Amino acid sequence: MLKDLYDSVSVLKGVGPKKVEALEELGIRSIYDLLTYYPFRYDDFQVKDLTQIVDQEKVTLKGKIAADPVIAHFGRKRNILNIRLLVDNDVIKVTFFNQPWLKKQLPVGKEVLIHGRFDKAKASLAGIKILSSVDNNEMNAIYPANKHIRQKTISDLVQLAFDEYKDAIDDIIPDKIIDKYKLEKQVKVIHDMHFPTNNQDAMLARRTAKFNEFFLFQMQLQSLKMAEQKDKGIEINYSDSDMEKFIEELPFKLTCAQLRVVKEIYADLKSNRQMNRLLQGDVGSGKTIVAALSILATIDGGYQAALMAPTEILAEQHANKLAKLFENTKVNVALLTGDTKAAAKKELLPRIASGEINLVIGTHALIQDTVIYNNLGLAIIDEQHRFGVNQRKILREKNDGTNVLAMTATPIPRTLAITSYGEMDVSIIDELPNGRQPVKTAWIKEGQFKNSIPFIKERLNSGEQIYVVTPLVEESEAVDMKNAVNIYENFQKLFEPDFKVGLLHGRMKDEKKNSIMGSFENNEFQILVSTTVIEVGVDVSNATMMIVFNADHFGLAQLHQLRGRVGRGSSQSYCLLVSDPKTETGVKRMNVMVQSNDGFIISQKDLELRGPGDIMGKAQSGLPEFKVGDPVADLKMLSIAQQEAILVVNTNNWQNEPEYSKLYSYVQQKNNNKMFD
Ligand code: ADP
Ligand code: MG
Repeated sequence: MLKDLYDSVSVLKGVGPKKVEALEELGIRSIYDLLTYYPFRYDDFQVKDLTQIVDQEKVTLKGKIAADPVIAHFGRKRNILNIRLLVDNDVIKVTFFNQPWLKKQLPVGKEVLIHGRFDKAKASLAGIKILSSVDNNEMNAIYPANKHIRQKTISDLVQLAFDEYKDAIDDIIPDKIIDKYKLEKQVKVIHDMHFPTNNQDAMLARRTAKFNEFFLFQMQLQSLKMAEQKDKGIEINYSDSDMEKFIEELPFKLTCAQLRVVKEIYADLKSNRQMNRLLQGDVGSGKTIVAALSILATIDGGYQAALMAPTEILAEQHANKLAKLFENTKVNVALLTGDTKAAAKKELLPRIASGEINLVIGTHALIQDTVIYNNLGLAIIDEQHRFGVNQRKILREKNDGTNVLAMTATPIPRTLAITSYGEMDVSIIDELPNGRQPVKTAWIKEGQFKNSIPFIKERLNSGEQIYVVTPLVEESEAVDMKNAVNIYENFQKLFEPDFKVGLLHGRMKDEKKNSIMGSFENNEFQILVSTTVIEVGVDVSNATMMIVFNADHFGLAQLHQLRGRVGRGSSQSYCLLVSDPKTETGVKRMNVMVQSNDGFIISQKDLELRGPGDIMGKAQSGLPEFKVGDPVADLKMLSIAQQEAILVVNTNNWQNEPEYSKLYSYVQQKNNNKMFD
């Protein structure tokens, strides 16, 4: 009988409860998990030819002992065993430290295999170990282990599992695709990932393993997307001429890119399937007006709309701007946040439930619990970069057919678009409104700041306003506040009474924050010192300079967001990064900011600078975790895997085609297990 790869590892000989637990810590539950628990590197014990060896490489040499080994002593405890090894016609000097007993194993004339680090210039080998036989003459897989389970144990268990289950290893990926990309069969992949005979085999196996991983992941995403596209959505029959008229009367002309994405969204709204769309655009590219036009169409078609912002400040700003924009329309706006007083809320809720209020703007709470809508046709999530696939799924399922539009704060790299957002349709605004000038950015050391003061005064004298931002440097908010307060007091000394300085920090009540933001918008003060609370979204077009202290404490995406607060009008804007970075990455980040204004480039650099080892950074960036594939470095393969998955799910009735039957049951099983956590 064929064994089942999803058997628990406990069926293996010698695997009791203790080992089950230890394996579980490594994420290994089934035989399949174990067989795909791949090594991260190999010790290469293959015998190499002297001519092939690179300096400082770890290699195995095969040779004859040319002379009696000699032990040299250094003090009482240290000694070196010196060996002369004849490899072909060359004599290589081999040394072992503090292992005098090895001498016995190395009589003159004996043929031996010695593994060590090779030094080309000295023609010498720093010995690591003597290999007993030809058995060891291979690549040794090295696994990520933990303190409850050893390398060797994992390796032995993999061997055991492979021997017992190899006949059950099957190709989930259709043969067609295996042939098309010259991939290897799964049983060979698993064998060669764990027990390769040479580097080439290991590399080829890894190539297929990566493709498999990406492809299977994409199959789940794309089939989810397919299923969602079948979801019945609210069909919104707005009037084209109403929309055209409104667009005509805007104070500015929409960019081509804005028009294009509005069309894409309108097509979704009009159709009877549920929209699930991600709107991407650089900072300042004008996503808000696109949102506004989507809202207007929804309300024109007789439905309600909700706009969710990540912060209260942003929600309030949106509410003010949209109320003004929609002054002469049937849009009836209400702001609903955690700050809304109970009495006001009590008054608002029935009006939302009756549909009298048709646009609700607020924070998260909007789509949770107590708020009941009359007929919510569209939910927009602004500056969305904190939701995973699962959370988005829940959001969609919460509302019966409500169309969903998510807007990113900054562009996201392709890698993220096709992994973390792979189930959504994507619209991109790849153009800035006319007349925008790129923000001029400079990076200075803290000690040089005083040299910038005359320039800052110049800006203020010409009637412009300035943001000053300081990051979360310490763990404690109190300390940060002190930092911001210090800067605030210094700026007061420097610029008052000619110009007024305001302070905004995270510890303030939202009401206070909002009133300060309001005063800044009204130019009641010219300099706003703040902690990162202003980071996202705010729009004060008279502000033309952004000064960021300790700039290296921010990530690239955040810096780009911050810089995007200026340069929103037509006058030249400036960004001054003040920092003394202590790491090389910090320096690189500063240079990227100085060199580029393009959010698409910056977000890509951001991912690259996080590097493959930076698990935390990657997790924060929202990338899903892969076992062998690196979605940043292997982007091309990832894209190909995505295309192939799209082809499959678009195949008519693929779920019932024999060539996809294993693939289909795999996807079914995974999706039932909620793998997108
Ligand atoms: P973001 O995409 O960062 O959210 P906003 O929607 O806040 O950007 O837009 C930035 C600024 O550009 C706003 O002041 C907005 O009024 C203005 N704007 C948007 N579209 C255009 C356009 N087509 N022409 C001129 N100005 C525009
Ligand atoms: Mg915005």
